[in-house]
Order: sequence, then C-alpha cells, then structure tokens
Amino acid sequence: MSDDNDSGGIIGTIISVLILAAIWPYLLALLGIYIANMVVLAMLTWIAENWILTISFIAGILAMYCIFKYKLISKAWKYVFAKAQPNAIEVRLDGLPGSTERKFIPSTNLYCYWCTKKLGIRAWEMNGKYFCRDCYENKLGSN
Ligand SMILES: [Zn+2]
Repeated sequence: MSDDNDSGGIIGTIISVLILAAIWPYLLALLGIYIANMVVLAMLTWIAENWILTISFIAGILAMYCIFKYKLISKAWKYVFAKAQPNAIEVRLDGLPGSTERKFIPSTNLYCYWCTKKLGIRAWEMNGKYFCRDCYENKLGSN
C-alpha cells in the first residue's frame, strides 16, 4: 500500500517535472512578453504624463548632437584652411620681388621671423610673417 503510493508519487513527480521541462520556455516567453508589455505601458504612461520633459529631453539630445556636429565641421574647416595656407604662401612667395604683400609695420613689439631680432622701425610684413630689413633684403636677394 505504502509502496504503491510512493512509486505513484515518484512517477507523478517525474511526469510533472517532464511537463514543466517541456513547457518552461513558453512560460518564460509569456512572462517576458508580460513584463515587456508592462514596461512599455509604464513608459507610455510616463511620457503621456511628462511629455514636456520628454520633448525637452529629446530636444536637448538633438541640440547636443548638432553642437557636436558643428564642432566637427569647424574642425574640418580649420584643417582645410591649415592645409590650404602653405600652398597660398608658396604661391605668394613666387611673385615676391616687388610684391604688393610687402608693407611697412609701424609697431615695434614684434620679432623677426628669420633672425628673431626685435623689430624696430624698419620692419616688414610678408604673408603674416615679420622680418627685419636685413632679412627681408637677404630673402629678396636669395630669391
Ligand atoms: Zn631678421
């Protein structure tokens, strides 16, 4: 009597474990769908209640993205200008003698680009660089 009950109990346990093993992925999937549904509902409810905050949050992210992009663009422009500048100077140096770039610099708070001598009254500017008169004439002579 007690033996039959024990074996029946064991068989029943084994069967229920097998059934559970067979259906647990579906149970898990159902649970997952239920939780996802709850989360989406909660999010939608929160957004509906705080739509101003949500919109401003999205706008903030967009603004940050735009600023980031703008910085990238300005960096790219700086890079392009930095690349273009040496070429421009080369072109200008070709037509150096008697060039109209040459101009007199009244300021004395500058140093010569070539010999680093402090520039006096007789200083010259060429392509954004400053030269003392000697260096300027030497450079003209070497060209
Ligand atoms: Zn000099």
